[in-house]
Amino acid sequence: MAEFNCYLCKNAIKTGEKFTFTKKGAVHFTCFISERSKEVKKEDFDKLRALTILMDSELQHLLNILAIKDIPAEIQEKIRVKYKNIEKEVNETTQMILSL
Ligand SMILES: [Zn+2]
Repeated sequence: MAEFNCYLCKNAIKTGEKFTFTKKGAVHFTCFISERSKEVKKEDFDKLRALTILMDSELQHLLNILAIKDIPAEIQEKIRVKYKNIEKEVNETTQMILSL
């Protein structure tokens, strides 16, 4: 990690920070949400709030997996696949937030 810069605040995205990708590139979770909250219509605020909580929890899940140390070789692939699946969930939630 750390090679990406956030397209909103322009700062590097550091290891352990929550982030996602859109068509524009990598973006911090907090930058993404604060940008969307300026753009989203008032009647969609409840949806944005719910999806923000969901995405925060999905991103935390990814960070928790990354923090597991000394994974035995026999289960490394299984855990990698699970990580990829949660990444897909994050991507889907990102798209839902973009569509508000
Ligand atoms: Zn940022």
